[in-house]
Amino acid sequence: MSTKTACKECEKDFLIIDEEEKFYEKKKLPHPEQCPSCRQKRRLSLRNERVLHKRKCDKCSKDTISTYAADSEYQVYCQECFWEYLG
Ligand SMILES: [Zn+2]
Ligand SMILES: [Zn+2]
Repeated sequence: MSTKTACKECEKDFLIIDEEEKFYEKKKLPHPEQCPSCRQKRRLSLRNERVLHKRKCDKCSKDTISTYAADSEYQVYCQECFWEYLG
């Protein structure tokens, strides 16, 4: 099984496979919001800046982590709200 997600950057759909999902959950990482190729580009351009910011979920205000800073325009959801949002 895998999860279909729309890339936030290029808006293409990409799949998060089960193993990948388990990996994120195990590491308590947020699920990716970009397709692999956008992530790759991002990684290359932000090589020295792979910082995870502590943020509050925009929906339930629980503490969560994100690659987006607290003052970024992006909405950040904790994992629970993210899955709820995906339906
Ligand atoms: Zn993309
Ligand atoms: Zn939340």
